[in-house]
Amino acid sequence: MRIAFSITVGVVLAVITLAGQAPGGGAARPADVTLLRPDRVFDGETMHAGWSVLVRGERIEAVGASVTAPADAQTIALPGTTLLPGLIEGHSHLLLHPYNETPWNDQVAREPLAYRVARAVNHARDTLMAGVTTVRDLGTEGAGYADVGLKRAIDEGVVPGPRMLVAGPAMVAAGSYAPKGFAPEWTVPQGAEEVSGPEAAVRIARDQIGRGADLIKVYADYRYGPNGEARPTFTLDELRRIVDVANSSGRPVVAHASTAEGMRRAIEAGVETIEHGDGGTDEIWKLMVAKKVGFCPTLAAGDATSQYAGWKKGSAPEPPRLTAKRTSFKAALNAGVAMCFGGDVGVYAHGDNVRELELMVDYGMPLADAIKSATSTNARLFRQGERIGSLKPKLFADIIAVEGDPSADISALRKVKLVMKGGKIYRR
Ligand SMILES: [Zn+2]
Repeated sequence: MRIAFSITVGVVLAVITLAGQAPGGGAARPADVTLLRPDRVFDGETMHAGWSVLVRGERIEAVGASVTAPADAQTIALPGTTLLPGLIEGHSHLLLHPYNETPWNDQVAREPLAYRVARAVNHARDTLMAGVTTVRDLGTEGAGYADVGLKRAIDEGVVPGPRMLVAGPAMVAAGSYAPKGFAPEWTVPQGAEEVSGPEAAVRIARDQIGRGADLIKVYADYRYGPNGEARPTFTLDELRRIVDVANSSGRPVVAHASTAEGMRRAIEAGVETIEHGDGGTDEIWKLMVAKKVGFCPTLAAGDATSQYAGWKKGSAPEPPRLTAKRTSFKAALNAGVAMCFGGDVGVYAHGDNVRELELMVDYGMPLADAIKSATSTNARLFRQGERIGSLKPKLFADIIAVEGDPSADISALRKVKLVMKGGKIYRR
C-alpha cells in the first residue's frame, strides 16, 4: 500500500514540477523530513553502530550518532537492519534478459523493439526493488537509444526504476561484432554501432553524445580472430579519438576488453573502466593502478553462462575458465586495482545483482571492500561521487535498509527492507 501511495504521489509531483524541472530531469521532490533509525549505518566507507540518517526532501541532511530531528519529522524505526547507500550496479543491460531464456542473437535479431522495452520496464522495477538505485547501463545491444527513453520515463516518475547512466548503442569496430555467421552477401544489423577509421570514430562519438549517451562504451576487442578467438579491434588512434571527443564533453569512455592487448590499448587511450578483463596480466594490472582505471570483472556473467552451458555448480568441478578467472581476479585485487561492482546483469536476471558481490567475496575480496565497491567506489569511478554512493549531507537520499549485517554476511544484501531513491520510498 505504501509503495502504491509513494508512486502515485511521485507521478503527481513529477507532472506538477515538469515545467520547472531541475537540470537532468530530477523526479518528485517530497518536502517531508524523515529520520531513519537502523541498528547500524554503512556510510560508504565504514560501519557505524547506532547511527541515524535524516532525510529532507530528496537529499540527506544529517548522518551520525546524535542526529536531532525537527518536531514534524517522520521517524522510521528499522530494528535489526543495516542502512547503506543504494547500490550502484556498474554493468547492466536493462534491454537484455537472461540468455538461458533466449540466446543473445535471437534477442537482437528477432525481438521487436517495443517487446524489448516492455521487458526493460520490468527489469528496471526489479532492479530498484532489489536495492540498486543506480545502474550504469552499458549498451542496448541492438535496441538503439531505448535506454535514453527508459531513463527519461524513470526520471519523470512514469515507471519505477534506478537512476541510469546510459551508453546508447555502444561502439564496435566494423566487421568485429555480432550477430554473425550469415551469407557474406547479407548485411545484418549489429548489436552495436559500427565504426571504422579515426574520422568516423570522432563523428559517431559526437553523434551518440548528441542523442543522449552519458558515456561511450567501446568494444576494444571481440571474438573475431581467425579461429573465433578474441582479438583487439580498434586501433590506438581510433580509441584516442573517441576518448578525446567524450572527455571534452565531460563524459567518460569505458571499454569491453578481455585480451591483454585490447586492455592495454584502451588504458593507454584513457578509458576509465575495463569490463571483463579475463586476460589481464601483472603488467596490465600495474598499468591500471598507475592510470587509476577501474575494473569491472563481471564474475556473475561467467558463472551464469558456464551453468547455461551445462556446468552443475556445487556438484561438478569448476570449469577451467572460471578457475582462471578466480586467479586473475585475485591478481588484480593483490595489485590494488580499483574494483567496480558490475556483473553484466541481463546475462542473468535483473534484480539478482547481489550475485556479483557474493562471487567477489567468494573469489577473495574482503566483505567491507565489496560493499564499498558497490557504493562509494563505483560512485567515484563513474564521476558520481558528489551526487550518490555515500551517506553524507547534501547527497541524494538514495538509501536502502537490509536485514542483518552485510559486513558479516554479504547475502544480507538480498534481504532488502527499505528502498529510498531521491527521498522517495519505493519499497518498505
Ligand atoms: Zn555487458
